[in-house]
Amino acid sequence: MDCIFCKIANNEVLSEKVYEDEKFLAFNDLDPQAPVHVLIIPKEHVKSADEITDKNSDIVGKMFIIAAKIAKEKGLDNGYRIVNNCGEDGGQTVKHLHFHLLGGRKMNWPAG
Ligand code: AMP
Ligand code: ZN
Repeated sequence: MDCIFCKIANNEVLSEKVYEDEKFLAFNDLDPQAPVHVLIIPKEHVKSADEITDKNSDIVGKMFIIAAKIAKEKGLDNGYRIVNNCGEDGGQTVKHLHFHLLGGRKMNWPAG
């Protein structure tokens, strides 16, 4: 399957890893929108948040735990933002489930 995040998970494409375990990976975004901008993915290919069901919802629970752990390590003690873009209108460009962890500056709301 031609998926850039699967390739990153398989080490076919290089990334700046910040966290890895058997099932998940986190790496720096290529085009950072904040001083800290990390992407958190399951290694398993799940297309989007729209594919989360009762059977696989443990994936997103773990992704939140990993985000909080990285935020702590990066010193984001004043807060941070976790974003999931889902589908065309949500602005999803990579069709492999991911959370954006953004921090190190004050975020704007509502997001554009
Ligand atoms: P989204 O628009 O929510 O699908 O987010 C996709 C994100 O992946 C964007 O922020 C891109 O900058 C980022 N991205 C795309 N390719 C790579 C890559 N090879 N390594 C790191 N980040 C990437
Ligand atoms: Zn994938």
